[in-house]
Amino acid sequence: MRKKIIAANWKMNKTVGEADSFVKAFLVEIGQENSVDVVLIPPFTAIPKVSELLSNASHVKVGAQNMHHEKSGAFTGEVSAEMLRELYVRFVVLGHSERRALFGETDAFINRKVKAALEASLCPILCIGETLEQRDAGQVEKVLETQLRGSLADLSPAQIAETVIAYEPVWAIGTGRTASPEQAQEAHAFVRKVLAQLSDAETAARVRIQYGGSVKPDNTATLMGQPDIDGALVGGASLDPRSFAQIVKAAKA
Ligand code: PEP
Repeated sequence: MRKKIIAANWKMNKTVGEADSFVKAFLVEIGQENSVDVVLIPPFTAIPKVSELLSNASHVKVGAQNMHHEKSGAFTGEVSAEMLRELYVRFVVLGHSERRALFGETDAFINRKVKAALEASLCPILCIGETLEQRDAGQVEKVLETQLRGSLADLSPAQIAETVIAYEPVWAIGTGRTASPEQAQEAHAFVRKVLAQLSDAETAARVRIQYGGSVKPDNTATLMGQPDIDGALVGGASLDPRSFAQIVKAAKA
């Protein structure tokens, strides 16, 4: 049984004060709910505050939105896995489509980060997904396979088992246009098939595959009801504590 994992990607939103208000309200909303893994992923500047507020709430974990693969050095504007670990960060989003499109991240570059994260005992949330043009051209499987093979190159089965995959069709991110449960399930089943080729069937069956792209409280339950959908990576709807708590509760149901 794969435990569902619901993560809130706040992107470049929320000051420290806003993060403080969110966490306090969110903890009241979800109570002691621990049948689903919950991860809050603030911008770097709010991580210390969120970690501090969650220090007595072991059922909610902290994540980061990016990291550099080197341990230290002349990389202006970057942070390392160790720096995140020091702030009690447990998860790190890697290869988000915004980083691929706006900051030119390639599968080979993302692969270095995935390896560095795993070596530092951070759990990568590796994002993959096709654009609308690629879907319309019938290239979904080709794109997903290329991204998976490139980003997970040279990983052992044990390392693949530790990685969370987020299938995020680019055309569904921030657009209000969600993949249908059938479209998402089809992609997730294909991702699991490729994971089995990269490791083995037992490992692939253990990997959690999140869906991301305009997840909202009212579409969560149907998406989460699909056999290969093991959680959600949520952008816009994770900025409001009540709406994000509703998503967590719907995932449990
Ligand atoms: C995301 O950016 O990872 C995302 C899924 O955003 P949204 O939920 O707003 O579509």
